[in-house]
Amino acid sequence: MKIHYTIAMPEPHTHYFEVSIAVSEIQLPFVDFKMAAWTPGSYLLREYAQHVETYSAKAGRKKAKVFKTAKNTWRVMAENASKVTFSYRMYAFDMTVRTNFLDSNHGYINPAALCMFVAGHQQTPATLTIQPYETWEKVTVPLPPANTKKPFTYQVPDFDTLVDSPIEIGNHQVFSFEAADVPHHLAWYGLNKYNEEQIKKDFTAIIEASTDIFQEHPCQEYLTQDYTFIVHILDRKFGGLEHLNSTSLHFPRETFDTKKGYARFLNLTAHEYFHLWNVKRIRPVELGPFDYERENYTRLLWVAEGFTVYYENIILRKAGLIKDGKFRKGIAETITRVENTPGNQVQSVTDASWDAWIKAYRPNENSPNTTISYYSKGALIALMLDLHIIYETQGEKNLDDVMRHLYQSYYKAQQRGFNEEEIKQALEEVSGKNLDSFFEKHIYGTQTLPYNRYLAHVGCKLTPTIEEKTYLGVSTVRVAKKLRVTRVRKDSPAYRTGLNVHDEIVKIDDQKVKDLSKFMEDKKPGDQVKVEICRDGNVKKFLIVLEENPHTTYKLTMQKNRTDKQKQAYKKWLRKT
Ligand SMILES: [Zn+2]
Repeated sequence: MKIHYTIAMPEPHTHYFEVSIAVSEIQLPFVDFKMAAWTPGSYLLREYAQHVETYSAKAGRKKAKVFKTAKNTWRVMAENASKVTFSYRMYAFDMTVRTNFLDSNHGYINPAALCMFVAGHQQTPATLTIQPYETWEKVTVPLPPANTKKPFTYQVPDFDTLVDSPIEIGNHQVFSFEAADVPHHLAWYGLNKYNEEQIKKDFTAIIEASTDIFQEHPCQEYLTQDYTFIVHILDRKFGGLEHLNSTSLHFPRETFDTKKGYARFLNLTAHEYFHLWNVKRIRPVELGPFDYERENYTRLLWVAEGFTVYYENIILRKAGLIKDGKFRKGIAETITRVENTPGNQVQSVTDASWDAWIKAYRPNENSPNTTISYYSKGALIALMLDLHIIYETQGEKNLDDVMRHLYQSYYKAQQRGFNEEEIKQALEEVSGKNLDSFFEKHIYGTQTLPYNRYLAHVGCKLTPTIEEKTYLGVSTVRVAKKLRVTRVRKDSPAYRTGLNVHDEIVKIDDQKVKDLSKFMEDKKPGDQVKVEICRDGNVKKFLIVLEENPHTTYKLTMQKNRTDKQKQAYKKWLRKT
């Protein structure tokens, strides 16, 4: 069977891509075309088929019968022809890394969201032709060119590779450089005042620091032998999605206005670049080959994402892009975030991973009370395990040895992912210690991580401070002169009394309140306040006894009189030896 995709965009201002898939040398009476429901790396069923419209088919040169057999499946009757062509229009106006976008300025394609697969033929090689809008001159896609004179035509070894090849079309900037002996290309869309030379220099440092952890770069032996960054600078939020030899990154336009913005730019770049190894190659066994039609469950996103978050700052530290103080500050901020989330006591990271599809990607007003992020908690688990390995091996090894081991043993030697038992075994093998209890308490359970015990190995300690003494337990937002409750913290005075999200706080102690934190400055735990709220037009009054605010801010400081052993372990931790 031969498969050829054509993607056209003759009227980009209407936001429609026109896709046709020609399938020849068929032997069955019909061909089923299926649209993926989700994109690997983003664990939510997005039902991309919702954007398909006006479809048609041909068998040979004649019009063919086509009908749907499921929400994402179209059946084309072959009528004894050996070739069928299925065409559809796809609405594309969702500018995220996981969706498609097309307007009069440019087009972006996340192929899982645009290109259907031929049922039963995900492994069949295909070709792809992009027909850019008439005034557009560039196509950036991390696929090798096909052996043809047809412009913008590429080889597609299989459907998984197509899904892993995001596409930017338009008149964007492209600049290239070499790092870690691999050519890198940057496709850059968006107005901004970036400094090309600075970015090349900083990206090179990130690439070399990441490659140094593994001692080899996977793109050297991959398809195109290069790596592509697609960067969008937009009036929107941050976002990134990892692929086999590329990544898509979205940054808000103000990114380059401040040092903080630029620091986040480097953090997200380091994050997505580390995914080149962790998740795209060192992967939980359940994550590939993928079933694109339904949820692919794993308990290991705390490794796939959490370890990657931890390595952001390890890489930036190794690359010389952040100093020790910033590195420690990053960890203290993550601890502050995790330890002030009530859901940390409710949901384990393994459950958080499994339920990503219905919880992490579908948050509601109660999520902080009941869930924990496998990103930030996973990063703290990585921290604990890194410190544990350094201590138990007398500074000989660290978490890098575990990552290398997983890369060599599972990805390279066996070409498969690892399971829950195997990640534990790898950690035990490198540290030389049994981790039954750690896993039971902190990974499958929700017991608080023993921060100070582990941080002492490297001569550090956590210092807690309480900034706001008294609290009611609600977060609020002021819109149209009304103060509305946006969150009620579990087990707080407001929670126990019955304040709800969406309630309007009309008065407290008969005063109008604009800023709740300011109001609390004069209050003490034990004070009683009269809270008047309005809910759906009904006024209600509550007498609430204020309590001590449990919100704690952590700082990571150096112990005085550190031993030589601690100093050496600290260096190993910060990757200075
Ligand atoms: Zn990630």
